[in-house]
Amino acid sequence: MNVSTAPMRRPIRELPDELISQIAAGEVVERPASVVRELVDNALDAGATEVGIKLQGGGIRSVLVEDNGAGIPADEMPLALRRHATSKIGSLHDLEQVSTMGFRGEALAAIAAVSELSLASRTADSTHGLRLDARSGELLPSARGTGTSVEVRELFFSTPARRKFLKSVATELAHCVDAVRRHALVRPDVAFTVWHDGKLLHQWRRNPGPVRLEQLLGDEFFANSRSIDVDLGIMRISGRAGLPEAARARADQQYVYVNGRFVRDRLIGHGVRSAYEDVLHGARQPAYVLFIDIAPDRVDVNVHPTKIEVRFRDSREVHQAVRHAVESGLSVSRAGQAPAVEGDVAEGSRTPEPSTGATAPENSWTGAAARPSGASSLMQRADQAPWAGQQGRLGLAQAEVLYAREPQPAWGTLAARPMQSDQRPEAVADGATDSWPLGRAIAQIAGIYIVAENDRGLIVVDMHAAHERIVYERLKATLQASGSLAIDTQTLLIPASFSATAEEIACAETHAEALLRLGLEISSLSPTTLAVRSRPAALDGGDVVELARKVLAELAQFGASAAVERAQHEILSTMACHGAVRANRQLTIDEMNALLRDMERTDRADQCNHGRPTWRQIALRDLDAMFWRGR
Ligand code: ADP
Ligand code: MG
Repeated sequence: MNVSTAPMRRPIRELPDELISQIAAGEVVERPASVVRELVDNALDAGATEVGIKLQGGGIRSVLVEDNGAGIPADEMPLALRRHATSKIGSLHDLEQVSTMGFRGEALAAIAAVSELSLASRTADSTHGLRLDARSGELLPSARGTGTSVEVRELFFSTPARRKFLKSVATELAHCVDAVRRHALVRPDVAFTVWHDGKLLHQWRRNPGPVRLEQLLGDEFFANSRSIDVDLGIMRISGRAGLPEAARARADQQYVYVNGRFVRDRLIGHGVRSAYEDVLHGARQPAYVLFIDIAPDRVDVNVHPTKIEVRFRDSREVHQAVRHAVESGLSVSRAGQAPAVEGDVAEGSRTPEPSTGATAPENSWTGAAARPSGASSLMQRADQAPWAGQQGRLGLAQAEVLYAREPQPAWGTLAARPMQSDQRPEAVADGATDSWPLGRAIAQIAGIYIVAENDRGLIVVDMHAAHERIVYERLKATLQASGSLAIDTQTLLIPASFSATAEEIACAETHAEALLRLGLEISSLSPTTLAVRSRPAALDGGDVVELARKVLAELAQFGASAAVERAQHEILSTMACHGAVRANRQLTIDEMNALLRDMERTDRADQCNHGRPTWRQIALRDLDAMFWRGR
C-alpha cells in the first residue's frame, strides 16, 4: 500500500516579477493598517508637517494619505514604485546610520502588487503635479500643491485568499487609527487628521510633546503617570510611566519607540516589567510610553521586514537602562510629596510633577552610584530635622537588616524598630504637623488602619502594607550600598528535586556561585534532574522549586547580574513581609506617627510590595459632600 505522495518535480525557474512582488507584499502588507503605517512613514520621511489620512470601509476599500512634504521629482515617480528603489540609502554605510523610517525601498512596490495604487506628487520647484497609475503606468498632469498623496484602493482584490483574513470594518479601522496614533505620539511636531467614510475621526494639531501625549492617551493616563527622563550619554530614555494603581487588564497602552520608530521588543518589555515588579500585582499591565534614543550604530533596525523589531548591540545595557529609568520615575512616592495647592493627592487626581528625582545622574544605573531617590522638598526638609543626623537613611537600613535577619524576634515587630529609640515624634509636636503630607496620626482602627489628619482631610493607612514597603526599601538600599546581603540559608533535609532541561542544568552549573549568593544550592541528580539542597531561610513555606526555576530562567536570559538582583529582591520582599508589623498589633500614637514620617521618606511608599495601595486621602470636600455641607 505504498502510494507515493512525492509531487511531480518541476524545473527550476525564475519567478515572474509580479509574483515576486506579491510574495514580498506578504511580509510587509498584512492589513490596511500596514498600508497606513508605510504611507505615513513615507510622509514623515519627506519632512511633512501635515499628514491627512482618509479611510473608507475600514481602509479595505481605500486608504488615502496626503502630505505636504518635499514631493517626488517627475522623473523619479515611476522609480518610486519599483522594488528595491529608494532615495534613503545608497550604501551599506548609510544603512548602518539610517535615520529615516523607510530604507528598504519596497513598501510602495509591495502595496502596489496587492491593490490599485496611484501616486500623485509635486515638488516645490515644479510648475505642476503628476499622477501615476501603478497598474497602467500612465503618468498624467495633476493640479495639486507641494507634497504627495498616495491612494490605495481595494486591498488584496487580486489575492482573495488574503482578503479573507481581514476582520470586520470596525476592527480594521481600529488598527488603522492605532497605526496613526503610534506615529502621532512620537511626532507632536506634525499635525494629523484621520477621516473615515467622510467623517472626521481625529484631529491632532501640532503641539508640545506632553500635550500630544495627553491628547492621545487621555487625561486619565496623564494624571496617573510619571514623567521619565534619564540621559545616560550613550542613550536617553524619556516618556511617561503609568502608576501601578492605574495598571490595566490589557497591555493596550504600552508604547515603545527606538529612535522614533515604534517597536515591539521583548527585552524592553521585560525591563519595564521588572521595574514594576515590586509595585504591581502580577496579572496587571502597566501603561507606558518610552522614547529610547540611542546612537544608530548601537541598534540594527534591519532585522524585520516591517521594522517592528530591532536588535541592540548590547541588549543588557538597554535592559538595565530601561529598568532603571522606569524605576526612578516610579520611585517618587506621592506620600513624600508636598501637598498641591489645589486638588488632593488621592487617586484619580493629577499629581504634581516631582521637581527632582526624574533625571538620574549619569551612570547611576550601573549600580555604582546611589540610585536617584525621589527626594521631594519635604523629604529634604525631613533630613534637615534635628534627628536626621543620627539616622540617615543608610543607618536605618543597616539596623533594619539586623532586625530582618531574625524574622521572628521575641519582641514583636514594630516596637523594636530603631526609629523608636530616638524621639522623632517630637518633630510632630513642634507645630509643623499640618504640612506633613500624611498628617498627624489620630487613631488605629480595626487593628489594621491608621487614621491621620492633614490639612486636606483624612488619611487612612494600611499599616502592614505600608510597613512592608518601608522594610523592603531599606533592605534593598542596604543591598545596594554593600553590594551583597548575607542571606541566611537553610539546608533541606530532603533535597527538593525537579526535572530540568539541559539548559537549566548547564545554567545551574555555570552560575553555581551566583546561586549560592542567593542562598540557593542547586546541583544535578541525573542528566534530567536538578535538586535544591539549600534555600534562603526567609523563604520557609515558599515553593523552593518554583523559585529555583524562575531564577534559572532569568540567569539564562539576562545573565547573572540582573537575575541575581531580581531574585534577591524577591527574597527581600518575602523577608519584608515576615518582618512587617502584623494586623492587630496595637500601636501607640508615637509609633503611628513614626510610621507616617517613614512613609514620607520612602521611595515607592504608595504601594506595598504586592502592588496594593498603602494609603488613601479622604478630602475634606468629600466629607463635606457626605454631610451636604456647602462651603
Ligand atoms: P522607502 O521608504 O523604503 O524608501 P518606499 O517604497 O516606501 O521605500 O518609497 C520609495 C521611494 O519613494 C522613497 O524612497 C521616496 O523617495 C519616495 N516616496 C515615497 N513616498 C513619498 C512621499 N510621501 N513623499 C516623498 N517621497 C516619497
Ligand atoms: Mg517607505
